[in-house]
Amino acid sequence: MSHEGIRMISREESERTAATEQPLPPAAISPAKVKVDITNGTGMEITWKDGHHSKWTFPYLRDACPCATCHEEREKTGRALGEPRPAPKALFPIYTPPAKPNSAEPIGRYAIKFKWADGHESGIYSWDFLRRLDQNALPFKVAAK
Ligand SMILES: [Zn+2]
Repeated sequence: MSHEGIRMISREESERTAATEQPLPPAAISPAKVKVDITNGTGMEITWKDGHHSKWTFPYLRDACPCATCHEEREKTGRALGEPRPAPKALFPIYTPPAKPNSAEPIGRYAIKFKWADGHESGIYSWDFLRRLDQNALPFKVAAK
């Protein structure tokens, strides 16, 4: 049984949600071209049918993972979508290679899924989610976080 949707949220949060959940026009959430550059590790680029172009690095996408676990972790720690996790406290700095997927696969016609090198693969990045992840390419103004 799910209790989603009945949790209490602050007024600020609900206003922000309302602003970001305005429906987007179909051309804004339909990719005309998707480029996932795993070989060079540069990231993903999407040209949308309305002409906008979006570009994200892989670490940004990994830190914005929309799965329930990552979403909860961000809510608990107050981390924004795409904001890097704080480095773990260690006596000596531990080198963590930048996030990179081993593969990417389409999910139906509405999303893309990455198999990250760190083993994580439960995030499903819908076109709608990705378009909203690129605030500069939104067809309407969204209040700053
Ligand atoms: Zn996740």
